[in-house]
Amino acid sequence: ARKFFVGGNWKCNGTAEEVKKIVSTLNEGQVPPTDVVEVVVSPPFVFLPLVKNLLRPDFHVAAQNCWVKKGGAFTGEVSAEMLVNLDIPWVILGHSERRLILNETNEFVGEKVAYALSKGLKVIACVGETLEQRESGTTVEVVAAQTKAIAERVSNWADVVLAYEPVWAIGTGKVASPAQAQEVHFELRKWFHANISPEVAATIRIIYGGSVNGANSKELAAQPDVDGFLVGGASLKPEFIDIIKSAE
Ligand code: 13P
Repeated sequence: ARKFFVGGNWKCNGTAEEVKKIVSTLNEGQVPPTDVVEVVVSPPFVFLPLVKNLLRPDFHVAAQNCWVKKGGAFTGEVSAEMLVNLDIPWVILGHSERRLILNETNEFVGEKVAYALSKGLKVIACVGETLEQRESGTTVEVVAAQTKAIAERVSNWADVVLAYEPVWAIGTGKVASPAQAQEVHFELRKWFHANISPEVAATIRIIYGGSVNGANSKELAAQPDVDGFLVGGASLKPEFIDIIKSAE
């Protein structure tokens, strides 16, 4: 059985005061036990130590990115080694905002995932098609190519959660229907079965992201291949607790 996984991607939001408020709301929330759901929140880098120190012990933290190789003369970057040094267990890599706005290629994301894993980080690796790609019928091809570029460089899939985040659903209020999400998650699992192994296909958690909220999470969570969520906007609000509860 795949343990339900709920990630909160705070993106580039928040002041120190707001972050403290969000954490105290999370700390008061009643959620299922850790054998039912794994919860990870991802504040901006500068707030990671603050959040890690204040956050309830059953929730964990993730960085939103890290550098592709060992740190050094890379102005503005944060290395996987630094995250490990601060005991940050998770990192989000390949988010569509980085792929599209910062031009991160499939290969670059694959290298980042491999390097982060090699340093002992666990990775939330993101894939997803644009509206144009969906409308031209290439969704499965696109997410398979994104996954393949990771798979060519990675073997320890136990430390990877794959987030399917259709770009057209991110921040738009246009959530994928449960059937649309299930279809792509099923295709991704089939891809793992054919290209990696039946074991990895059966065990890897494939989570959905894109306009998930407290009102639509339950029905999405009921889909057989949807193993959790990566939540943006709603992860900054008290309804994040309701989304976590959809694990049950
Ligand atoms: P929204 O939930 O705001 O659509 O963002 C999803 C996302 O990009 C999570 O990584």
